[in-house]
Amino acid sequence: MPDNGRKPDTVTLTIDGREVTVPKGTSLLQAADGIGVEVPHYCYHPGLSAPAQCRICLVEVEGAPKLQPSCVTMAQDGQVVHTDSAPARRMRQGVLEFYLVNHPLDCPICDMSGECMLQDYVFEEGREKGRGREPKRVFGRDDFGGDVLFYGDRCVMCTRCVRFMEEVARDPRLTVVERGSRAVIDTFFEHGLEGASYAGNIVDICPVGALVSKDFLHKARAWDLDHTESICPGCSQGCNIELHTRDNLVQRLKPRENREVNGHWMCDYGRANYEWMNHPGRLEEPAVGRGNGRREADWQEALQLLFGRLQGEDGASVRMVGSPFCSNEALAGLLAVGGAADGGASGVFRCPRAPDEDPLPGFPLLVRRRDLAPNVHGAGILGLERVGDDEGEGGLEDVADHDGILLVLGDGLRDQDEGFGANASLFVYLGTFDSPAAVNADFVLPVTTFAEEEGSFVNVQGRAQCFRQGLHAPGSARPAWLVLGALAAAARGLETPASASAAFDRMAEDHGAFAGLTHEAIGTAGMPLEGVHA
Ligand code: SF4
Ligand code: SF4
Repeated sequence: MPDNGRKPDTVTLTIDGREVTVPKGTSLLQAADGIGVEVPHYCYHPGLSAPAQCRICLVEVEGAPKLQPSCVTMAQDGQVVHTDSAPARRMRQGVLEFYLVNHPLDCPICDMSGECMLQDYVFEEGREKGRGREPKRVFGRDDFGGDVLFYGDRCVMCTRCVRFMEEVARDPRLTVVERGSRAVIDTFFEHGLEGASYAGNIVDICPVGALVSKDFLHKARAWDLDHTESICPGCSQGCNIELHTRDNLVQRLKPRENREVNGHWMCDYGRANYEWMNHPGRLEEPAVGRGNGRREADWQEALQLLFGRLQGEDGASVRMVGSPFCSNEALAGLLAVGGAADGGASGVFRCPRAPDEDPLPGFPLLVRRRDLAPNVHGAGILGLERVGDDEGEGGLEDVADHDGILLVLGDGLRDQDEGFGANASLFVYLGTFDSPAAVNADFVLPVTTFAEEEGSFVNVQGRAQCFRQGLHAPGSARPAWLVLGALAAAARGLETPASASAAFDRMAEDHGAFAGLTHEAIGTAGMPLEGVHA
């Protein structure tokens, strides 16, 4: 044991005058990153191997005969490193100049502009003027298949894309062909990336605008997009993502790093699954009354009337239909309203299922799961029973004919007909879209999608994860946790929860699996629920 008390598996070095202690095996680039010093890099990516080929991460290490590539030089005890010394900057400036010899500098029409690592580094460290006089090499544009377009002229040959497909997707469909300045990325076969399940990630990790998404092509400028921490609603894996929004529309989804769930990645199915968040034609105002007697009402009137009806249904039993697309807070609100009736309550939910799972072999934690909804596990933990088939249909025979109180939240009832709920003494439909099967509803209440509210889901690992609000709700639509929370609170003589976080606190009082947790503690990176396993 060393006498300085430091753990034997760490090393202490100095980077730009600051002492830093890191685990053995940490590269200089990672050690610098840990103290907020960014060393320019292209080929290095934390989720891939480091081939040390881009030569832009050169730093000065005292005592070393020449500059060292910081991505593969491991931190050593007593090392003194200068990332910003004149020799280091001069060398990186030279490397950058080489990159610009053939780069087209078409930033004004490049989708990556504003988030491009070439643009950033040249702005920070590059020469003011280029000295190249030769005509630039031209490759043009290539359709790589799937959602990916390749602009060869912009490529800096970092090989991140090739290594991702090889090391992480284990589906090696890209390679480098030719040599020297003619070297270019290409596909092996004509089908290219068509049919690959995780290829969208190469667009994310391409440090420049060489690989771009067809779906996002020329849709928005990076600096016009708002980023919101969220959770992918595509399946029960619960990949951490960002919603990138502009003009109150989701423009694209991007993975958000969480090494416990999805690493740096997300699947193409989940990435493409966002247009529904932008759909027009939403339910916008509360309505009361069945069939032809239906009329619009404001929230105050609708909730007062509904509360009165619930109070008047003495002894009626309650059947609830929830949805695995709803947050824990919303589902707990549904159960609290149902539970307040004295005739007994039971609830179900339905979920579409894919025929198979789709794993990411190089990061085995990430699997596109069979359950194609984000909160199947939250719904189960809260006590809703799963019914229906793999299409997310059927299983509501008992509910459809129920003659007591019927509460439907988030299930669009698309497989049900106009007879649904005809016998119910009180039928309440809370949804984002109207449904022909809700014609018998006494109350139709517009609620928000997960993108328009805050809340939490529980993923397949039993991990609770929070998401934030990225879009404004249409019309008077309100979060279901608020609507149902207000009704449940009135029944119990409590205050209406004023936030999703307060609704979570109330849920934690009612449901032991969430006891002791808060939104703040869980955060958007999530936390495993104790005693809940996949
Ligand atoms: S296409 Fe992008 S990720 Fe692939 S080698 Fe070129 S710059 Fe790197
Ligand atoms: S694996 Fe599931 S949660 Fe992750 S991105 Fe794909 S669909 Fe979304």
